[in-house]
Amino acid sequence: MTPSRIVLKFGGTSVSTIERWRTILNLIREREKQGFAPVIVCSAISGISNLLEALLPDAMHGRHGPALANLRDRHATLAREMDVPIDVIEADLSEVERIASGVALLGEFTPRLRARVMATGELMLTRLAAAWMAQQGVDVAWHDARDLLRSIAGPNENRHFLSANCTCEADPTLVTRLGTAAVLTQGFIARDPDGHTVLLGRGGSDTSAAYLSAVLQAVRLEIWTDVPGMFTADPRVVPHARLLRRLGYAEAQELAAMGAKVLHPRCIGPAAANGIPIWIRATPTPQLEGTELSDEIATSPGVKAVAARRGILLLSIETLGMWQEAGFLARIFVTMEKHGLSVDHIATGESNVTVSLDALANALDPRILDACVAELRAFADVKVIGPCAAVSLVGRQIRSVLHELGPALEAFAELPIHMVSQAANDLAITFVVDEAHADRLVLSLHQRLLDHANTPELGRAWHLDAPAASRWVVHREALLAMASAGTPVYVHDLEKVRRQAMRLRALPLERAFFAMKACPLPEVI
Ligand code: ADP
Ligand code: ASP
Ligand code: MG
Repeated sequence: MTPSRIVLKFGGTSVSTIERWRTILNLIREREKQGFAPVIVCSAISGISNLLEALLPDAMHGRHGPALANLRDRHATLAREMDVPIDVIEADLSEVERIASGVALLGEFTPRLRARVMATGELMLTRLAAAWMAQQGVDVAWHDARDLLRSIAGPNENRHFLSANCTCEADPTLVTRLGTAAVLTQGFIARDPDGHTVLLGRGGSDTSAAYLSAVLQAVRLEIWTDVPGMFTADPRVVPHARLLRRLGYAEAQELAAMGAKVLHPRCIGPAAANGIPIWIRATPTPQLEGTELSDEIATSPGVKAVAARRGILLLSIETLGMWQEAGFLARIFVTMEKHGLSVDHIATGESNVTVSLDALANALDPRILDACVAELRAFADVKVIGPCAAVSLVGRQIRSVLHELGPALEAFAELPIHMVSQAANDLAITFVVDEAHADRLVLSLHQRLLDHANTPELGRAWHLDAPAASRWVVHREALLAMASAGTPVYVHDLEKVRRQAMRLRALPLERAFFAMKACPLPEVI
């Protein structure tokens, strides 16, 4: 019998060291033993996509030298750890160099060129990994993801090349073409109908893996990342965040869309449409239980998580004259569409319409925004408010638990709220506040609603399993080096200071004071 395909996606931090690659190898062997044929989808080494994204704007001013050196170094370090020759990626490094030199000469670049450059991150990583796997005697076939995923034409150049959608109908021909060997391929990249390289948007490797699951009709999609699952809040902001052991697709979709970056919002659709369960697991701690998404198991209604999205701008559009006139909203939306701005949340009043714009979705260029605002000002008073954050409470049938939110809403005391919006699908309530207040609000809402909740699908708090417990041991070498100049020394763990300070700020205190005399270190202050 042909083994069923199972898709495992590994994010940036999961592919950056040889230790993680050993875990990946074990997982491949484990899944094969269980009778599956794995497809391994990889992101670029962590930080490389950011580096490549900044490279071409730098190249326009001829300042791309340091980035190129860094690109080579980061890959050379992994190649050394793997004992694989760097030659396997020389062609990609030269291509980036050639394109950057061209951009330096011309002083401009297109989204199409940016896609080509950014695609090299995933390509280089998988070439190194394929060479290492061959050395380990593992039978894995390397495939260029652009030969596996076909994108659909986008509405404009940016979306077409940098944030493409792909077709994801089941493809039995591809299933046959791939045979039964394990497959190693890239996330984030695909090919358009004209054969050009396109990207699936930042964080889009999750989506690549979901498309491949659908195309190959996989039995499961596994997302391997740096935290063991979807949590009730970003565990890096709320150390007490609890594991969500099970979630329905729609809830997970809403949570991802509202800012839980552990899953790319577009990755749930293709899996859900095909009833493919999604597991989220941590590569550093593969033994830990993670999150399972499916519609098979019923989950309880109510608030499941708090999520935040930063970089939001509000447009408050006010007019006395136009309200109740037919077509007022249409006029606003036509103007926004003309400038390619997509609206996220909307709140309406008698003389005011406030809309929120998500910087990520809109790739907000100040010139575009200015042009749009100028046009709106022809028929209304427009105020731009920002930077803001949209903090959302997410969960199924959230309206049914509004009465339980009473005490939690105290978290908003003395905190200006610019906008409240309730999702029509009954999965979220969103509050837009100043960006500076976001972390504090998330912590405070979590403390009141979720720290001690006992819904059956809530699991352990993140900090109980986080590597922080052994933080001092991890820094042993650095600590010994510090102490070598003489003791005693006072050592501050700034990450922990930050976490504790945030817990303090979440308390219902009117004001908090800091005694500089006790600790005058600028970093701590
Ligand atoms: P990868 O590189 O593996 O794709 P990402 O950085 O894209 O990983 O996503 C993982 C990160 O998502 C975590 O490190 C965590 O800080 C963040 N995150 C935000 N919200 C949540 C949440 N609700 N649950 C889990 N992780 C979250
Ligand atoms: N490497 C890409 C990015 O950083 C895709 C991904 O990691 O999902 O956006
Ligand atoms: Mg990601």
